[in-house]
Amino acid sequence: MRAFNFSAGPAMLPEAVMRKAQAEFLNWNNTGMSVMEMSHRSKEFMEVAHHMEATLREIMGIPSNYKVLFVHGGASLQFAGVPMNLTEADDVVDYVNTGVWSQKAIKEASRYVNVNEVAKAENSIPAPETWRLSPEAKYLHICQNETITGVEYQSAPISDKPIISDFSSTVLSRPINVSDYGVIYAGAQKNIGPAGLAIVVVREDLIGQARSDTPNLMNWQTYNDNESMFNTPATFSWYLAGLVFDWIKEQGGVDAMGEINQRKSKKLYDLIDASEFFYNEVDPSVRSWMNVTFKLKNTDLDAAFLEESKAAGLLSLKGHKAYGGMRASIYNAMPEEGVDALVQFMKNFEAKYA
Ligand code: PMP
Repeated sequence: MRAFNFSAGPAMLPEAVMRKAQAEFLNWNNTGMSVMEMSHRSKEFMEVAHHMEATLREIMGIPSNYKVLFVHGGASLQFAGVPMNLTEADDVVDYVNTGVWSQKAIKEASRYVNVNEVAKAENSIPAPETWRLSPEAKYLHICQNETITGVEYQSAPISDKPIISDFSSTVLSRPINVSDYGVIYAGAQKNIGPAGLAIVVVREDLIGQARSDTPNLMNWQTYNDNESMFNTPATFSWYLAGLVFDWIKEQGGVDAMGEINQRKSKKLYDLIDASEFFYNEVDPSVRSWMNVTFKLKNTDLDAAFLEESKAAGLLSLKGHKAYGGMRASIYNAMPEEGVDALVQFMKNFEAKYA
């Protein structure tokens, strides 16, 4: 029996994907070998890779003037990769600070370029009219969804600069307009597949400006010129990501995902808002569809909540230590029944202890 796993990432993968991978594990497509045993340069693996990219382009609606790069180092390496590919050391860049992941991006970028923090908040997104933008900024960086607090942009901000957005915990969860952004980057281990790869979707005119001392494996040009195979990629992660993209397409694509995700998160927020027992601190207009945080008014009950939820097959609900409380990460692969089960558990828990 599989539990409902609310981990923030690595996170649940669709069961159908896991079953397909299991069935193909020892012998992919009658080749007599596993995908993880194939040369990344083989015709067979190139087929896997091309299909994966084509499906991602289709489900995300990626225009032809955008390149899709499959990169190493997770989203975190792009915290440095973004300034290295887009700036010189004395340039200025704008960053919105909406939480821990914004701050990590700012801290890393500050090693390479002059970072101007345009606004700061923890449980909300400051109104764009109040952002202290610098006229000379090379780009505007945002974190689309703050995984720890559950604060999510509901649409792209408007800017005449390229918007660079960390989509790690919201990619493929709802329809977006890729051309609102200059660069979208994301680690895989939430909505894409297992850990081990990250994606960079970049408007083609933003490639080719990297600093001369940028390591090859951080230079977007290198990935673009070599179909993301300058060196050996994380082949099995690529393959599984491809299966996840197929699955999203079969479910009805990101339109269907968005409807389901909005409904799943609303069930939890409605319960929390109606409760005297649980609360959520995030401005309702920017609450995340992916990471629903909540706290118990009586924190003495936190341990019992975690113990009893685990016993009920509802796993990994402990909030991030930087924020406390609880967090239900409900990415695409979390079935709606998992959310229903959590809602029922929370109602029962409140009735028992209130
Ligand atoms: N950005 C966000 C918003 C994240 O949630 C995470 C991981 N939790 C990261 C960046 C870092 O990702 P990675 O571990 O792939 O470097």
